[in-house]
Amino acid sequence: MRSTRAIIYKNNFIHNINVIRSFLAEKTKLCITVKANGYGSDSVVAAKTALENGASCVAVATVGEAKVLRENGIASDILLLSLCNKEEVPCVVLQNLSPFVFDTEYIKLLEDECLRQGKKLKVHLAVDTGMGRLGCKVEDAPSLARKISSSSVLELAGTCTHFAISDEDKDDAKFYTMNQIDLFNRAVKSIESSGINPGLKHCSASAGIFSYKSAHFDMVRSGISYYGYSAGTLDKTFLKEKGLSLKPVLSLMTKVSAIKDFSKGMCVSYGCTWEAKEDCQIAVLPIGYADGLFRLLSPGLMVSINGKKYPVVGRICMDQCMVNLGKNSGVSRYDDVIIFGDLEKGALQTASDVAKIANTISYEILTSVSNRVERVIVE
Ligand SMILES: *Cc1c(COP(=O)(O)O)cnc(C)c1O
Repeated sequence: MRSTRAIIYKNNFIHNINVIRSFLAEKTKLCITVKANGYGSDSVVAAKTALENGASCVAVATVGEAKVLRENGIASDILLLSLCNKEEVPCVVLQNLSPFVFDTEYIKLLEDECLRQGKKLKVHLAVDTGMGRLGCKVEDAPSLARKISSSSVLELAGTCTHFAISDEDKDDAKFYTMNQIDLFNRAVKSIESSGINPGLKHCSASAGIFSYKSAHFDMVRSGISYYGYSAGTLDKTFLKEKGLSLKPVLSLMTKVSAIKDFSKGMCVSYGCTWEAKEDCQIAVLPIGYADGLFRLLSPGLMVSINGKKYPVVGRICMDQCMVNLGKNSGVSRYDDVIIFGDLEKGALQTASDVAKIANTISYEILTSVSNRVERVIVE
């Protein structure tokens, strides 16, 4: 196996799902999002572990992602959170996915395909209450709900919305989210008062689960917290107050592939942006931006070798990068290197720490770990 690998700690999934469930009422269902290969982990393992540990369904963004799950024996409902194109519609029906819908044209496409295949489909009506992405207007919800529920092949399995700013700990953010909850309640009421069952009502992603109990409704959709990270400041605060913490599921590791003696004045990597100020040892690591280690992380990124942090120096290349070991580090060729991961398992930083260097969020660091990095599943 290649030295560069992502270790996936299955027990951390279980720990995290138990933390999530401790915030939920007994009757509240849990949907785990496993899009983007389970936030870079392994979507099949993520989905199976979730379903074995209290999740009632899973969610993906693309039809291809759903196909991988079905081919690997996932039989639960699979919510399709993003829209697919026309050519993918037969596959949506064939694999019995549960798409989010919010306009008549798309609803008709699905309905026609169901009739063609002689199959039925559960759909979830998405209402835009302020995210400005998918979803119908609040006032259009009842007529769309009617369109769905009057179809002989479609079932209105749920009505949902998505929060834009539920992770932020500011008064105006809280006000905005409360307003989204209010609009959602209005949409649901208007569906109900026209005599239609809205199905499962769901709004909250990870941030909302911890921060807005009033927004749990019938089901919550958790992604990032299942993978061991907070969505933002607000949910982090709530977790801390309860004395709970999440455990990062993915640790990105590699091994030192070579160690070289450098004398003062020698340069490292493309552009010769780094020069040895004194004699030192440079370790070569077989990991680069094609593995998901963004080029803009250097300078700034430190990696952990034998429990100590060393700086990446010079530009990160496609397949390799270099680390300054200084003098007498005691580091040997083939020693393990941890880029980020679970602090309890030897990492000295998490994906959120790395994210800060790149001015992004843990989500992007995790989902950027590329395909050629082998995933190793351990308990
Ligand atoms: C990705 C996604 C989620 C999960 O979000 P997290 O912040 O990772 O918990 C929930 N709902 C929708 C619609 C999503 O696209």
